[in-house]
Amino acid sequence: MGLRESDKFATKAIHAGAHVDIHGSVIEPISLSTTFKQSSPAAPLGEYEYSRSQNPNRKNLEEALAALENAKYGLAFSSGSATTAVVLQSLPQGSHAVSIGDVYGGTHRYFTKVANAHGVDTSFTNDLIKDLPSLIKENTKLVWIESPTNPTLKVTDIALVVKTAKQINKEILVVVDNTFLSPYLSNPLNFGVDIVVHSATKYINGHSDVVLGVLATNDKAIYEKLQFLQNAIGAIPSPFDSWLAHRGLKTLHLRVRQAALTATKIAEFLEQDSNVLAVNYPGLASNPDREIVQRQHRDGLGGGMISFRIKGGAQAAAKFSSSTRLFTLAESLGGIESLLEVPAVMTHGGIPKEQREASGVYDDLIRLSVGIEDSDDLLTDIKEALAATTK
Ligand SMILES: *Cc1c(COP(=O)(O)O)cnc(C)c1O
Repeated sequence: MGLRESDKFATKAIHAGAHVDIHGSVIEPISLSTTFKQSSPAAPLGEYEYSRSQNPNRKNLEEALAALENAKYGLAFSSGSATTAVVLQSLPQGSHAVSIGDVYGGTHRYFTKVANAHGVDTSFTNDLIKDLPSLIKENTKLVWIESPTNPTLKVTDIALVVKTAKQINKEILVVVDNTFLSPYLSNPLNFGVDIVVHSATKYINGHSDVVLGVLATNDKAIYEKLQFLQNAIGAIPSPFDSWLAHRGLKTLHLRVRQAALTATKIAEFLEQDSNVLAVNYPGLASNPDREIVQRQHRDGLGGGMISFRIKGGAQAAAKFSSSTRLFTLAESLGGIESLLEVPAVMTHGGIPKEQREASGVYDDLIRLSVGIEDSDDLLTDIKEALAATTK
């Protein structure tokens, strides 16, 4: 058995990194050993020596992730944030980076409060396409994209950013945080980026029971540098978490497709409801980024995340978010169960109001992470919560 180049996503999701052990176990056992026997000094019996450097379960996950991102190499870390930290730690002292403005809060925090301590200075912009040429300086080493953004779900033309950056300096690394789409809906490496990162805590594991991060690249030198840091810094996932995330990843295509189909139904309903001021969803025909979505996302699907503004301000947002029966009020996303939150007071509560509103995060904005419960039940839940809020 072995995968073929021509095998489709679902086949790769099930079989990539799924090796049969000496007992013929169809599912690989969890390898807890921290150290591995050597036959003579510096001659390990197999490919492993010490579990921080490499572990069978982590290796399986890395191999599977690389296959799903059409990449040669994959690396796993103890969280999405640790993945970001390792990528930014790889920049030389005194580097400059350009990042999309409404980047994940933890990434913004790392850029401004941690990376700056080793001399990495970052410029943020809410219009990367327009501002990139003027923001790139002599020492610019990296461009950080998140698409769609959180929580307003703005989509960036990744190929255009790559072209713009590389025309100015081909050494500039372009990184995409692909957490919100997952490798099923988009493979940024296909658009010329150097590194794709994920919080696997979200769609890749998909069951809200593991915190883990991954990255993928096709560049051997980048891989070796980041693998060196993975071992040197040691922010690695446990064998059990690696095993769980690998198990979760095997159903990624089913989960993400279902979530996206239900999210489309819900977004279409919200768009025509008179109690809703605006809907952000890349899967809507009316979405201003629709042309990019068609090129960049599988089947033009919009993913499982929606945000919308409800009439009645912060009060209505609070009432709505505590009136649902199936959507649980909680942070995070990408799991099998549906969640909702109010970014202005939850995930984005730390951002000053003016700055928050400049990127569309108003007090009345509600974010949905659509799960894979029955679509009609989820739609009914949204309708009933709206009715309860506006009665
Ligand atoms: C959650 C998240 C992260 C951080 O990942 P953790 O696994 O929580 O450390 C980074 N980027 C995005 C887009 C996220 O949603």
